[in-house]
Amino acid sequence: MMSGHSRLRAAGLLAGATLLTTTACGAGSGATPEAADGKPQVLAAFYPLQWLSEQIAGPDAQVAVLTAPGVEPHDLELGAQQMAQLEDATLTVYIKGVQPAVDEAVDPERSFDAATAVATLPAGGHAEEGHAGEEGHAEESHAEEGHAEETHAEEGHDHGVAYDPHLWLDPSRLATVAGKLGERLAAADPAHAQGFKDRAATAAASLTALDKELATGLTTCATRTMVTAHEAFGYLADRYKLKQVGITLDPETEPSPARIDEVAKLAKAEKVTTIFTEALVSPKVAEVLAAEVGAKTAVLDPLESKPSGDYLSAMRGNLKTLQSALGCTP
Ligand SMILES: [Zn+2]
Repeated sequence: MMSGHSRLRAAGLLAGATLLTTTACGAGSGATPEAADGKPQVLAAFYPLQWLSEQIAGPDAQVAVLTAPGVEPHDLELGAQQMAQLEDATLTVYIKGVQPAVDEAVDPERSFDAATAVATLPAGGHAEEGHAGEEGHAEESHAEEGHAEETHAEEGHDHGVAYDPHLWLDPSRLATVAGKLGERLAAADPAHAQGFKDRAATAAASLTALDKELATGLTTCATRTMVTAHEAFGYLADRYKLKQVGITLDPETEPSPARIDEVAKLAKAEKVTTIFTEALVSPKVAEVLAAEVGAKTAVLDPLESKPSGDYLSAMRGNLKTLQSALGCTP
């Protein structure tokens, strides 16, 4: 019997079908080929999707991650090994707009784009990097004055999306993704459908509990403005009624002196005490800004790479950091 994923794989890859089928069914011992190799191979594009995939996979699927720990995911380039991983995967779990190289390489028949599972927010982030960067900043200051960001978001087509892709930083949205991913895996491997669905429900419940903790913990704060190194936290800000001011749109972009002045003025006006940095981005710019404003710096984790704990513990760490920096009373 040919497993579901082998069929999908053969259908999706005409050129390599023979070789890949051999790999799928012929590896290992003389035991029934389905025993080990029949499990769906889930390839998560980067950490939060890896964590979610692992929760849902349990013992019924194997999960690998495309972006190695400690690597900034946005500018990932795909080498031969990663192309092979993409070819071998039963299902690639990604978010269109985060990693342009992955967006181009995925097979639509064998992929799950988490951005299709939830309502997205308009871009204020990475899609406008490069030549459109200055316009992106202008858009932010206009937004302060109440102009609609949506009209400008259309310009952010560099990476093919007009929405902000950092949706994993809202646990309630990630809970929705969990349910849809569970259904997708259940369809890919009907023999284990119940397990996938049950574990997806458990993951969604953990995420919903986390969402409640964040909502409660961020209810009453001295300031609701968070100045961040790059604009990764739009969903968190939206969900918990905070205002994100990103120094840069993209981790790779150096802000102009004018931009730093602009953010400094805003930070002073909003009584910001802390400028947030992140592990994978040099803190230099944030430190310059903090000195100008008379603020300190603290690390807020955008979870673009594996934290020391897991998604849940890192988000709880972010909650503590936010409560302290924004002066929230429990
Ligand atoms: Zn990012």
